[in-house]
Amino acid sequence: MPGVLEEPDVIVVGAGPAGSTAARDLAAAGLAVLLLDKDPFPRDKPCAGGLTRRALANLGFELPAEVVRERCRAFRAVWGDKVQEVVLPEPYAVTVDRCDFDRVLVEKAQAEGAIFCPGEAVLGVETGQGRVTVRTTRRRLCAPLVIGADGVPSRVAAALGERRVPAAPCLSAEVPLPGSEGGARRLHGTLETHWGMFRWGYAWVFPKGNHASVGLGSWDGAKVNLKALWGEFLASLGYPPAVPRGHLVPLGGGRRRRSGDGILLVGDAAGFADPVTGEGIFYAVLSAHLAAETVLTLKRRGLPYTSHYLRGYEEACAKAFGRDLAWALALNRLARRCPRLWQKALFGSPVCFRQGLEVACGRKTYRELAFWALRRLPHLLS
Ligand SMILES: Cc1cc2nc3c(=O)[nH]c(=O)nc-3n(C[C@H](O)[C@H](O)[C@H](O)COP(=O)(O)OP(=O)(O)OC[C@H]3O[C@@H](n4cnc5c(N)ncnc54)[C@H](O)[C@@H]3O)c2cc1C
Repeated sequence: MPGVLEEPDVIVVGAGPAGSTAARDLAAAGLAVLLLDKDPFPRDKPCAGGLTRRALANLGFELPAEVVRERCRAFRAVWGDKVQEVVLPEPYAVTVDRCDFDRVLVEKAQAEGAIFCPGEAVLGVETGQGRVTVRTTRRRLCAPLVIGADGVPSRVAAALGERRVPAAPCLSAEVPLPGSEGGARRLHGTLETHWGMFRWGYAWVFPKGNHASVGLGSWDGAKVNLKALWGEFLASLGYPPAVPRGHLVPLGGGRRRRSGDGILLVGDAAGFADPVTGEGIFYAVLSAHLAAETVLTLKRRGLPYTSHYLRGYEEACAKAFGRDLAWALALNRLARRCPRLWQKALFGSPVCFRQGLEVACGRKTYRELAFWALRRLPHLLS
């Protein structure tokens, strides 16, 4: 009898937060799931490792304490000599190292019965006759359904005929905190962002105990030489030199196909990330849950995984967060056109600054933020 390795019910490509979550949900419901990743695990991924409260709430389990590097109650934004800071009564985010966080998510999927194959890259995906064929560096696999969770350069998205998702370039590195004492105290429990270094985007310093994730992200679509700014930024903070890694964050909120015959896309592969802040883990996990729910509903009703039926997943994403990402994209475009206006609102008004944080905490939507700001526009700009 063929085993799960030869004839899985679902092949999940990519074992980041999106892939592992989809694999866990589906395996927990009794499906035979194969989870593939091109990298040997545990592996690191360029990421600031900030998990907002809403991302934590969606995980579906309590994150083990040893994976949490810091619990953050404060958010600080710096623009030249201007500093805005909010300290909340409760943590609104935690920081993690991605190699630990992603390993835990894979282990959760394995505990539910998913078979994990690290170090196996998918080279191509073809659909036809009610099946999807996946060509990997080791073999050919077939399944009725493939979930593409393979990040921005998604091979599975390419099989849907989708171009690479529009994305913002970032540079980041994990940097030891100097003299640990001073640096660590200044940052402890605080997510810090720096503005005004380029037209639209920001730099971040997220604390992780004895080290910090430091990065630069340009959201304005223009070519910015981040490498040229990198050394200067580290030196301005008094940090030692560090070699950064480049990566892309999708600019979410745009229109895209996320399903087709036998195929669903989740997380970065689907282009789901906040086009204002770059937050992606919340959307990765939530879209994975919605994908699994769609698949399980079809299975329960005995319906096939055709593009017609899988479109329900796209509708579920649009309802849960897609429309709000479109509002965020509109705000991104406004900021690109008038970055000074945006920065003035952010730094000129502590109230406006707090409202922005409400979105990150999941207590306000971008739509609500946009209407709130529109009503106060003359006041914000005076
Ligand atoms: C510099 C930077 C900082 C960020 N900071 C934050 C932050 O603080 N908070 C936040 O919420 N988000 C942040 N993000 C966004 C976040 O990292 C992503 O949105 C999130 O990782 C998406 O998860 P995913 O599972 O969809 O994709 P990924 O985490 O990218 O995982 C994709 C997986 O697919 C595998 N893969 C790729 N191609 C193949 C293939 N052909 N075959 C098999 N496997 C393959 C990869 O090895 C990888 O493991 C940041 C992004 C960047 C670039």
